[in-house]
Amino acid sequence: MRGIEETFDVSKDLLNITEREVSLLDQEVSNGEGWTSYSRGQIVKPTVFKNKLSGLFYEHFHEFAVEIQVNGAEISYRCSCGKNGSMCKHVVALLYCWINDYDGFTNISYSIEEFKKKNKEELLEILTRIFIKDPQNIHLVGGVDPLDDDIDDADGMFN
Ligand SMILES: [Zn+2]
Repeated sequence: MRGIEETFDVSKDLLNITEREVSLLDQEVSNGEGWTSYSRGQIVKPTVFKNKLSGLFYEHFHEFAVEIQVNGAEISYRCSCGKNGSMCKHVVALLYCWINDYDGFTNISYSIEEFKKKNKEELLEILTRIFIKDPQNIHLVGGVDPLDDDIDDADGMFN
């Protein structure tokens, strides 16, 4: 049985994916390499959020970012390996990871519930870490662009 943390807020579509379906995809797109890669532990830092999976795939000092979204029986995906349009073994490996190691996925919905219990200082500390790791994330929370004319108004200079 899957634990509450692992399945909390996870879409049924994602929970319904079977090993057989993933195995068929593997044969179809990567000639079994998806399974081999998964078995070698090449997927790290996997996350789940509602109907989305993400993870990093390590290979020969390269790192690929994999994202998968499931709607009904339809699986859409994105991978930074650049194999445009067609599914790659990195995507298949993340699916194998989900089927076999769901309890190793960080459930973002569950994490958000945990954030709700934190105080302002703790949340600010978390935000700071996020912005230091990837400064571009500032734009997700309405960061002010210094090249934007609006900044003059924000300063109250023209009021
Ligand atoms: Zn790929």
